[in-house]
Amino acid sequence: RSFATPTLDNSNPRIPPYLKLAKNYEKVKEVLGKGRALTLAEKILYSHLDNAEESLLTNTNGGRDIRGTANLKLKPDRVAMQDASAQMALLQFMTCNLPSTAIPASIHCDHLIVGERGAKEDLEAGIKTNQEVFDFLESAAKKYGIEFWPPGAGIIHQSVLENYAAPGLMMLGTDSHTPNAGGLSTIAIGVGGADAVEALVGAPWELKAPRVLGVELTGKLNGWASPKDVILNLAGQLTVRGGTGFIIEYFGSGVDTLSCTGMATICNMGAEVGATTSLFPFNSAHVRYLEATHRHDVAAEAQKFSDIVHLGADKGAHYDEVVTIDLSTLEPHINGPFTPDLSTPLSQFKETVKQQNWPEKLSAGLIGSCTNSSYEDMTRVEGMVREAMEAGLKPASDFYVTPGSDQIRETLRRDGPLETFKEAGSTILSNACGPCIGQWKRNDDVQKGTPNAILTSFNRNFKGRNDGNPGTMNFLASPEIVTAMSFAGSTTFNPMTDSLTTSSGKEFRFTPPSGLEIPPQPFESARPEFRAHAQAPDPSVEIAISPSSERLALLEPFDAFPASELSGLRVLVKVTGKCTTDTISAAGPWLKYKGHLPNISANTLNTAVNAETGEVNSARDVDGSPHTIPDLARAWRERGQPWLVVAEHNYGEGSAREHAALQPRYLGARLVLAKSFARIHETNLKKQGVVPLTFADEADYDRIAACDEVETVGLLDMLRNGGRGEVALKVRKHGSGSGSAEDFLIKTRHAVSEDQAGFILAGSALNLLAQQQGR
Ligand code: SF4
Repeated sequence: RSFATPTLDNSNPRIPPYLKLAKNYEKVKEVLGKGRALTLAEKILYSHLDNAEESLLTNTNGGRDIRGTANLKLKPDRVAMQDASAQMALLQFMTCNLPSTAIPASIHCDHLIVGERGAKEDLEAGIKTNQEVFDFLESAAKKYGIEFWPPGAGIIHQSVLENYAAPGLMMLGTDSHTPNAGGLSTIAIGVGGADAVEALVGAPWELKAPRVLGVELTGKLNGWASPKDVILNLAGQLTVRGGTGFIIEYFGSGVDTLSCTGMATICNMGAEVGATTSLFPFNSAHVRYLEATHRHDVAAEAQKFSDIVHLGADKGAHYDEVVTIDLSTLEPHINGPFTPDLSTPLSQFKETVKQQNWPEKLSAGLIGSCTNSSYEDMTRVEGMVREAMEAGLKPASDFYVTPGSDQIRETLRRDGPLETFKEAGSTILSNACGPCIGQWKRNDDVQKGTPNAILTSFNRNFKGRNDGNPGTMNFLASPEIVTAMSFAGSTTFNPMTDSLTTSSGKEFRFTPPSGLEIPPQPFESARPEFRAHAQAPDPSVEIAISPSSERLALLEPFDAFPASELSGLRVLVKVTGKCTTDTISAAGPWLKYKGHLPNISANTLNTAVNAETGEVNSARDVDGSPHTIPDLARAWRERGQPWLVVAEHNYGEGSAREHAALQPRYLGARLVLAKSFARIHETNLKKQGVVPLTFADEADYDRIAACDEVETVGLLDMLRNGGRGEVALKVRKHGSGSGSAEDFLIKTRHAVSEDQAGFILAGSALNLLAQQQGR
């Protein structure tokens, strides 16, 4: 093969560096043997290795046991950051004192706009409220040469799909739904800001080689089933932890029946099962989408690259596990409430609602967001809305539409669906996250605490996530099912079997939806004010942070690990049940403090459930006095009392939110001891110098309690030995004297790699990077 074929077109940074990747891939094949069959995930990951030989052969039994074992040092091609997480990522990047980012990057202002009255008013209000943050982000983008997407331009994952995602590309995003780009055959991984900074400074980014879960799709979707139902069904099968440590790779004849945006929806929600990322093989749907989004050059170069590496799994490639879904027999699913893996087929939903005593009245239906606002989604829904309106019907519930970007919004305006939604009385929100991330100011009709049901085509449904009301049950479904139920105003309506009655007393039944994969003409361009500003770095730009700001604060480095074991730690709180990153660092109104670590720390664990009292946000000091968890943590910080949290399974589930690691660290946490961790959060803890340990024997969870005193045994040696060695915890029960017979030892496990041991010893990954930059 000649590797001169793909052009490395430096004039367009949106074309992946295919020549470099092809050469690296050739090296990988030499190391692994030309006849070795690889999955697509392996091909893309390994072609991004910094040092293929070392990564693939060190401790891997001659390259035979890479997955789940090797620590891959990867060089991603690009980074994307959303406004909430970009603040901390950039504050961290600033401490490295570099003139520009080493790889292309983008900032997307999407999370801070509150959805209430409609796009125009909400956007104006959002800009006014968050001006200081947007000014900071824009000034940092100018200084370091980062593309800046202003508020209203779109939601990060939709903008990435429309502009940056490309077959064979590898990117990091400071948001857990970054895998959305896997729908365009991109390896896209959600990370915290500290990981993003590593990529931004050009350092290799480390990832334990994921195992590969193959999902074989057969048949063809029909009737009411949509791509969303593939992932809703899969989430039910795998549960929220089932994808942990895996890349989900789709294959099979059913793949070629899906649209590119449908594949993106499926990949987007791979985050809900804890997968590292999700990915589809390159096919003609990708070419059609790239061309419709004005990227003929990317499509042409991707095709050439695929001629060399074949952007699909090799024949005979081995998957660690395989799940098969027959699209032909798949029925719509509805997942929730409160967890995305509680999956109920539509045909059983009515009965389940009644059995579970869930609300039958639907208080609101919301469609769109980064997960489901494609042209295909919206044209399928438009057909339903038009048909229902022609029969004299209007949505019986409040109905909201969130376009994912201004490009899709303008295309929907040009081609008609937007007008149809308006005629039906829906509220068109701004091209931003809004209700999906707690930025939803609802009508006064639902009081806080009141149980009520909403249906959304979003991806996540933890308690309080949408409107801050713990009584709101969010059921996830396709936009079509959300729309049908919104017209009915009922959670028990099944559009496949039930009819609605029109004002003239006639029976109306929706016909199964149909739509267009891409618009008949290429997508309309975004309005000028909502386009990205690409710019060369400008060192003369002053970064805008006021010293008196309540929302932005420069970072102080964390202290290094002591030259001894950790001793005198106390258990701040033992939490029970789900402890997601939302639990550890809530969103909603707290989003406003994302760039101010001391201020946002006031929400730390404030929705966690105390295992010993059953109370939310409650902890006891050593003298028995009651406090909120963040208040006690702050008091202990001030007293110089280091602490740990004890938790159950999948601690840190949900998102890449690094504040969930930064805040406890800032307040004095040195350890988290849990039954298990969510992958991204576990990495984030290590990056911030907090040691995540799991119980070797889960029964020990019952023995340790709040205020118990803890000393590590073997931790310092393990860190100094690059992650090798065992760690135990010596526990002294609260109130017992020194050397008490009640003292006991807890054996633990850890997953600290050599690099991560270095982060912890230095105090944080950033401390280590700064040390390296200074050398
Ligand atoms: Fe925004 Fe929701 Fe998408 Fe996250 S999942 S990027 S909050 S729309």
